[in-house]
Amino acid sequence: MTLMKQLRIDDVGASTKAYNQYGRSRLTSIGFFKRLPPFQGWGPYAELDATAWRRWLTFFGSRGIRPLIAVTACWVDAASRLIPFPEKFPEAAAVLRAALSDGYITIANHGLTHCVVGRHLPLFWSGNRRWHREFWPELPATLHREHICRSQEILEGYFGQPITTFVPPGNIWSRKTAAAFEGTHLQRVVANRPMADAIELTPTIDFVDDRDIFVVLHDRDLHSVTPAWIETRLR
Ligand SMILES: [Zn+2]
Repeated sequence: MTLMKQLRIDDVGASTKAYNQYGRSRLTSIGFFKRLPPFQGWGPYAELDATAWRRWLTFFGSRGIRPLIAVTACWVDAASRLIPFPEKFPEAAAVLRAALSDGYITIANHGLTHCVVGRHLPLFWSGNRRWHREFWPELPATLHREHICRSQEILEGYFGQPITTFVPPGNIWSRKTAAAFEGTHLQRVVANRPMADAIELTPTIDFVDDRDIFVVLHDRDLHSVTPAWIETRLR
């Protein structure tokens, strides 16, 4: 089988799956409706466990699919504490680390928190999707720098390899984010749009428009789609 597209899986380790809650409309974003199917627009849903990862990785390996897995370095809990991915989900992390070292996957940086910490909890009267983007241009440059550097330290420290690809949470990144790459191994951005505050591309960064070559899924989809569905999409 010839694969025309690459598979990307986002939001691994991100607490956005727990706290990013909105309904499919403004009305269904009020109160508890936003957590109920069919009104539910996003979270909450469960992190994939080690067993589920093993099953998916076996399938990917058998079909020659080498997914780009975008990991958020820390889970942000309800009290705004940051818990590194390998501490929060040690078994799933170990499965991914083994798959990486055997060459079956690529790991990308999907932010330190995926969210604006402190604004990430669900709201009663509305959805909170806006706050589940991490790298808004209006946030201070020091925050961009700290989040890029800390996430690289955590991911590279655990996975034992340079992380060169950045997948901006919610496709939001800016000049400050790009400037924060300096001195790190990050050199490629995969997203569906360029920087939020600049039209021109940064010459030192390889920007890949994911609509051209990727099928983009979230770990959320791996709870519901079938292997055959993914294979068809990639062909
Ligand atoms: Zn994401």
